[in-house]
Amino acid sequence: MVRSSDRVIGTIFDIKKYSVHDGPGIRTTVFLKGCPLKCVWCHNPEGQETSAEIMFSSDRCTACGTCVSVCPNQAVILKNADRQIARVHPDPSIVLREGSDGNGGSPAMNSVYSNQAIAIEAGSAQTETVRPGQAMPLKDTSQNLNRAHGIHTVREKCTACGECVKACPRGAREVAGRVVTSDELIQEIMKDVVFYDSSRGGVTFSGGEPLLQPDFLIALLRECKEREIHTAVDTCGFVKWETLSAIVPYADLILYDLKCMDAGMHVELTGRRNEVILENLICLSKTHDDVIVRFPLIPGINDNEENIVSMGKFLSSLRGEGKSPRIDVLPYHKTGIGKYERLGRVYSIPDIPRPTDEMVHAVRERLRKLGLETGIGGQAR
Ligand code: SF4
Ligand code: SF4
Repeated sequence: MVRSSDRVIGTIFDIKKYSVHDGPGIRTTVFLKGCPLKCVWCHNPEGQETSAEIMFSSDRCTACGTCVSVCPNQAVILKNADRQIARVHPDPSIVLREGSDGNGGSPAMNSVYSNQAIAIEAGSAQTETVRPGQAMPLKDTSQNLNRAHGIHTVREKCTACGECVKACPRGAREVAGRVVTSDELIQEIMKDVVFYDSSRGGVTFSGGEPLLQPDFLIALLRECKEREIHTAVDTCGFVKWETLSAIVPYADLILYDLKCMDAGMHVELTGRRNEVILENLICLSKTHDDVIVRFPLIPGINDNEENIVSMGKFLSSLRGEGKSPRIDVLPYHKTGIGKYERLGRVYSIPDIPRPTDEMVHAVRERLRKLGLETGIGGQAR
């Protein structure tokens, strides 16, 4: 448990207002940072790591070099597309290039130039060999720099301090993740209480995986309950049952993600097996009255007949254990793809089209025929 004086603190990466896809009515969705899964289609990759991290939009960057000079950890370097790295010689006709001595440059040179090194597009200017450790005075070369993709963040060195974010004149850098107290968050949530009341909405805690910060989550749920605000928790289910069961008394609705039934395939798609997820859902269906299973439908990945039928039969079988949960089909979308580049990661699955309405309705109908209450999208009842 993380406490600051008598307040519980946690890390979030977003707050979405006026959401209508994360439970009933108009809602505020709070995204908590950190997730035990790494789903290949994840549209919130900035929620996977537990700590804050820097995001960089290369399309906004003019390669002015400000972030390079303000970073206290030498975590930003500026280099051009063909990896020619140079410092600026006081004589503007001379361009200093990595490897111009014919040795191809070296990692040592990269580190020597990691902080205040300025990369420029080597043109017709005269060049001069730069050797590791060689010091040259810097000068403003912003008029020469237009290769935005020359900015590179060395993530192992970055502490997400945010200095470069404050200094960037183009808004090209942002920190995903911030520490907040439960009090601060409740104050933010309460600003929209009129919308919750008028729409029978409330608050949804999502992520990432909100149950990775159980004390923070429970503190928030308790506060909401005291204020009679409806709460939903969106979980991937990959947590200990003790952790999940601890929130049952406080959460009005559990949104429970179910991706695929085959354990081996589940590992390939999420990095983890699914036994714990299935066992927790069995227990949850016995102990909580309001559970909605959410199935992200991804064409070519988990939309096969075998998976749909296996999922439907499993959920139907829960009727004997307790209340069979409703299942909502969530059509795949690509809104998160751009975030991967901004995080310096690769979106690993091929270009997948959004499922057609016909596909979505066919899957829903298949599940309905297996005896389940079904829905499409995340808007509950
Ligand atoms: S990220 Fe911002 S501060 Fe850094 S080089 Fe680009 S525009 Fe300049
Ligand atoms: S967030 Fe801080 S440590 Fe990270 S790149 Fe920016 S200035 Fe450097």
